[in-house]
Amino acid sequence: MNRKPIFAANWKMNKGASETEDFVKSFITKIQGLNLASEIVIAPPFVSLPKLAETLHSSGQNSQTIQIAAQNCSQFDAGAYTGEVSVMMLREFFVHYVILGHSERRSIFGETDEIINAKMLKAREANLKPIFCIGETLAEREGGQLEAVLRRQVTEGLKGLTEKDMAETVIAYEPVWAIGTGVTATSQQAQDAHAFVRSLVSELYGADTAARIRIQYGGSVKPGNAAELMACPDIDGALIGGAALEPQSFMEIIRNGLEN
Ligand code: PEP
Repeated sequence: MNRKPIFAANWKMNKGASETEDFVKSFITKIQGLNLASEIVIAPPFVSLPKLAETLHSSGQNSQTIQIAAQNCSQFDAGAYTGEVSVMMLREFFVHYVILGHSERRSIFGETDEIINAKMLKAREANLKPIFCIGETLAEREGGQLEAVLRRQVTEGLKGLTEKDMAETVIAYEPVWAIGTGVTATSQQAQDAHAFVRSLVSELYGADTAARIRIQYGGSVKPGNAAELMACPDIDGALIGGAALEPQSFMEIIRNGLEN
């Protein structure tokens, strides 16, 4: 199965509008002339989405080259939900992807599998493509819970999604102990987890959907480890935090990751 690699920058709570504009202008210059046969996605903070859309548009980038993601969305449509942003509001800024279930949302903001599932369903209602994050903590891995945790997160998080929804969904396997720590999973650890996640999708949706779904790896991906990780048969791209804050290293991760 030929799956198009997908590299997504998760800027977290970094880069306001002017830094977003600077990044995009520089990044576009750096990727010009490179044959990056992949999807590239940038997820800035909510308030920088309009500037990202505007800068991409004025740079002549069409939505095929760089796609826009949100880092979160509300599970509700509208109303008295102070501080929340709805899926329809995101659509107005040309958002195509939304990161859901990130470990920081789970651990810092208390998002449960049930909440994440409600957001997944709401995102699909608006035709947004979820980047659905899963992953175990170090204690869970060391306690032999890796597969049980991934099974729970996948089964609960995807509840109610149809095969058609799954065709528009990307899964990001992000071991929590590797996020922002500088510690990367070995390519063998990552490959084993990805193969297991793909087998779970097969159990739930069949072999065809499992063969098609893209599973990104996330957790301290850098230019120096991208090629080895991306060479694994079940790794279809990366979700990148820290190393995607600089145009040069984001470009190098994509370029190196595709060199295999
Ligand atoms: C992330 O936030 O999804 C992530 C993988 O971060 P980092 O690349 O900094 O580990």
